[in-house]
Amino acid sequence: MSGGSEKKVYQARSITVTFEARRCLHAAECVQGLPEVFDIAKRPWIQPGNATAERLAEVVRRCPSGALRYELVDGGTDAPAGPP
Ligand code: SF4
Repeated sequence: MSGGSEKKVYQARSITVTFEARRCLHAAECVQGLPEVFDIAKRPWIQPGNATAERLAEVVRRCPSGALRYELVDGGTDAPAGPP
């Protein structure tokens, strides 16, 4: 909810990226893989609209800690939300 340091959500048109700071190992796979999206000099530091959902998903999968996750909005394969 309004927990502050928990999971943060970054949404673009076709993909949602979540980031859990506590899990991050600062391996920098993300910033090296897609510097136009993951830029710690920017606020917010994740700008998911700056790459295609495919590229973004590819880099998010490289995150070794599981701090980064993604969900495709339009019929994605990564844990689609079922009915409640
Ligand atoms: S790839 Fe994952 S663990 Fe590495 S810096 Fe990015 S979020 Fe943190």
